[in-house]
Amino acid sequence: MKKSFRRVFTPIIGILLALCLTFISLAMPASEAKAKNVILLIGDGMGFGQMTAARIYKGAPLCMDEFSCTGFVSTYPHDPVEKWVTDSAAAGTAIATGVKTYNAAISVDGKKRPVKTILEYAQEHGKATGLVTTTRITHATPAVFAAHNPNRDAEDEIAADILAHNVTVLLGGGSRHFLPTNLKGKRTDGLNLVEKAKSMGYRYVETAAEMAAVSSGKLLGLFKASHMSYEIDRSATEPSLAQMTQKALELLDDDPDGFFLMVEGGRIDHACHAHDGAAAVRDTLAFDEAVRVAFTYALQNRDTLAIVTADHETGGFSVGGYGQYCFNPEILRTAKASFEDVIAPQLNEKNFQELLARYYGITDLTPEEIAAVRLGFEKKVGAIALAEVVSRRALLGWTSSAHTGNDVPIMAYGPFAEFFTGRLDNTEIFEGMMAAFGFR
Ligand SMILES: [Zn+2]
Repeated sequence: MKKSFRRVFTPIIGILLALCLTFISLAMPASEAKAKNVILLIGDGMGFGQMTAARIYKGAPLCMDEFSCTGFVSTYPHDPVEKWVTDSAAAGTAIATGVKTYNAAISVDGKKRPVKTILEYAQEHGKATGLVTTTRITHATPAVFAAHNPNRDAEDEIAADILAHNVTVLLGGGSRHFLPTNLKGKRTDGLNLVEKAKSMGYRYVETAAEMAAVSSGKLLGLFKASHMSYEIDRSATEPSLAQMTQKALELLDDDPDGFFLMVEGGRIDHACHAHDGAAAVRDTLAFDEAVRVAFTYALQNRDTLAIVTADHETGGFSVGGYGQYCFNPEILRTAKASFEDVIAPQLNEKNFQELLARYYGITDLTPEEIAAVRLGFEKKVGAIALAEVVSRRALLGWTSSAHTGNDVPIMAYGPFAEFFTGRLDNTEIFEGMMAAFGFR
C-alpha cells in the first residue's frame, strides 16, 4: 500500500514542485536575473554637494534621483602617502578591477602588476565595449578600463594600450596623444594612431555631425586635442555627453552578446578644482542628461543594468557657506564662460574687473573683494581668487582645491540594482558588476 502510494504520488508531487519552482522563478523580480548589458556612468568629482546644487539650480529632480536603488560609497586608495584621499586613477582602478591601489595607478596593483578590468572580462565573454568621456580618452577614468600603466601621465603609452584593446566605441577628447608632433599631436615616437585605428576597421570622426552619420561598426571619435569643452563653453560642433552616450548605445546595441559601456562626466572635477561653481553645476546637469539617455535605454531593455556614481568628491563643495543659512545659485545663471578655459587664459591683474563684468555682469566689486583677488594674484592663484568672489556671492563653499575623502553617491536601476544599496566600498562596484553579468 505504502509503495503504490509513493509510485502514484511521488511523480505528482514532483510535477507540482516543478510547476511551483517555475512559477516562483517567473514571479521573481527582474533584478534576480543576469544583466546582459551594463552601463556605468561616472561623474568625476561629483559628490552630494554637486548633485544638490545641480538639483536646486535646475529647480526640478535630476534623472539620477529617479533610480530605484541608492547608496553611498567610500573612495579611499591603498596608499601610505596620500592617506584617505584618492585620485581618479586609484579610484577608477578600484571600480574597474576591484583592487585598491596607489594614486596614479592605471589598473595595476600596489606592486605595479596589471589587474584584469571589467571591460576585459566583458570582452572575454564576447561582449561589445565602449568608453565615452568629456576628458581626454587617455585620462585616468577612461584609461583604467582599457589600459594598464604604473603612471597615469604616460598618456602616449595609454593611447596605444587603449587602441590595442579593440574597444568597440571610443568617444572623447585627446587626439594629441594619437597623433605625431608634425600633425599637431604630442607623440614623439612618430606613430599615427588615428591611421592605425582606421586600419583596424574603426570609423574616425572629429565633429558632432560626422559622429551622427555613423550607424554601425567600430567608432573612434576624438573631438579635441585635449579635454572636450566644458558644457558652458561648448559649441554645437562638439557633441554633448548625452549625444555621445546615445550614439554609443546605438552602436553597442548591435552585439547579440550584450555590452559594457562606461560614460564619464569628466569635467565636473576640473570645474571644482578651479572653484568654478557655474561650470560644475552645468557639467553636472550635462552628465545628468547622459544619465537620462542610459536610464531610458535601461527602461526599454530590461536586461540592462545602469549604475551612476562618482570616483571621488572634488573641492569640498558645499551648498551654503561662510556662516550663513542660505544658498544663492541665481548668480551662477549669469555665467557665460568657464574660468579655467576661457577667463583664466586672458586674465591678468589689470583686467579682472573687466572680465568679471563681461562674463558675469558683475560691476560692483567691493574693496574687500578687490583686495582678495589682488592677494590671489600675489599667491599665483588669481583665477581661483576671482572664481571665489562668485562663490562667496552664491554662498557656495569650498574646503580644498584638491579632492576630498568624502563618500560619494551611487544609484542603480535594472537587474542586480539592489546590490548597490546602502554603504559600499568602491571595490564592491566591480564585484556587483561581475555578479550582475554572471561572471562570478
Ligand atoms: Zn581631480
